[in-house]
Amino acid sequence: MKLETTYENNNYPIIVEHDAIEYLDSFTKDYDKVFFIIDANVYHQFSEKIDTLTKKHHAQKIIIPAGEQTKTFAQYNQTMESLLSHQLTRQTCIIALGGGATGDFAGFIAATLLRGVGFIQVPTTILAHDSSVGGKVGINSKHGKNLIGAFYRPKAVIYDLNFLETLPYNEVLSGYAEVYKHALLNGKEATQNIEAHFSSDKQLKSLDQLDYYLFKGIETKLHIVVEDEKEKGMRKFLNLGHTFGHAVEYEHKIPHGHAVMIGILYQFIVANQMLHTEYDIQHFINYLQCLNYPLEIIPKLNFEDTYQFMLLDKKNNSEGIQMVLLQDWGSPIVLHVDKTRHLKAFNQLQSYFTYLINMNNTEV
Ligand code: NAD
Ligand code: ZN
Repeated sequence: MKLETTYENNNYPIIVEHDAIEYLDSFTKDYDKVFFIIDANVYHQFSEKIDTLTKKHHAQKIIIPAGEQTKTFAQYNQTMESLLSHQLTRQTCIIALGGGATGDFAGFIAATLLRGVGFIQVPTTILAHDSSVGGKVGINSKHGKNLIGAFYRPKAVIYDLNFLETLPYNEVLSGYAEVYKHALLNGKEATQNIEAHFSSDKQLKSLDQLDYYLFKGIETKLHIVVEDEKEKGMRKFLNLGHTFGHAVEYEHKIPHGHAVMIGILYQFIVANQMLHTEYDIQHFINYLQCLNYPLEIIPKLNFEDTYQFMLLDKKNNSEGIQMVLLQDWGSPIVLHVDKTRHLKAFNQLQSYFTYLINMNNTEV
């Protein structure tokens, strides 16, 4: 399956297939030097395949620390200096081979190396169906996530689904949150359809027909980012579940998607309270429980701490905390939500999980 962006210029293809990596040749042939920047876990899982690939492309391998720990200044400095020791020209291509963290990091390298060289995304996680499209790249600061970065389009996104086979279920759950978010943005039918298809953890683990849902997710994201690349308007809708989710993620260091799912749940509660929608909260909780999302964290959250983290969100403006709410199926809006309303929604969220607190007390 293939999609193509529809910007005025500098468009790029997104190929979503098993064995999509075979298409890489056609995108690297114009470069003098090619470097693969590879997540250490991914290299460990696929070393033979990757060695064959780099040989075939006469490319160099740069293995970076697995996951989020790579998105630092220290790693940026080390990788940059190592790249620059090769007497590079602008005819250099950087290929990111890994999850969202690798894509963000390698993309930021590509954007800033000699003020911009070629960049290709080869995502290896479910979550990266989201992060590899749209051109946001960057690293973290001690002041927060993704605070140092750029908008930089890749030349191609080559999503070879064979890489997903080694993903631990925890990472499947993390990535599925963004796939589910894209279905929510598409409306009620899309949401019911995905829930019916992935109706248990066994079914989700099987990754059966995941390619269809990844494709739909990418299509949804693409539609939004092509309209609003620099996040002046509708790109904000992609933050559904992220205001509360990011706060939980920072506070408790849990995987991004697990936190986003909790943020999505919270958003339904705020929407019911503020917009008088009638989302069935218990239905969503049951769904998340049957997929095995670790919701035990919810009764452990502290309102003041979570609220302080929400205040740090870079999407806020001078009027306070901005949240995306589904005012109706598939129709998001961005609203300011004040502290009193947050507290009310927070208390309601925790009230669904008091039995967990009681259970913990009995255990003691
Ligand atoms: P990740 O890159 O940290 O990968 C998660 C874990 O899975 C890591 O431990 C990694 O080593 C491992 N892994 C990767 N591929 C694997 C495979 N095929 N088999 C086994 N293990 C594998 O995280 P992620 O969830 O892919 O992405 C999260 C990152 O994406 C965050 O840094 C987030 O800020 C970023 N993000 C960016 C955007 C964007 O628009 N740029 C959007 C959403 C998220
Ligand atoms: Zn996200």
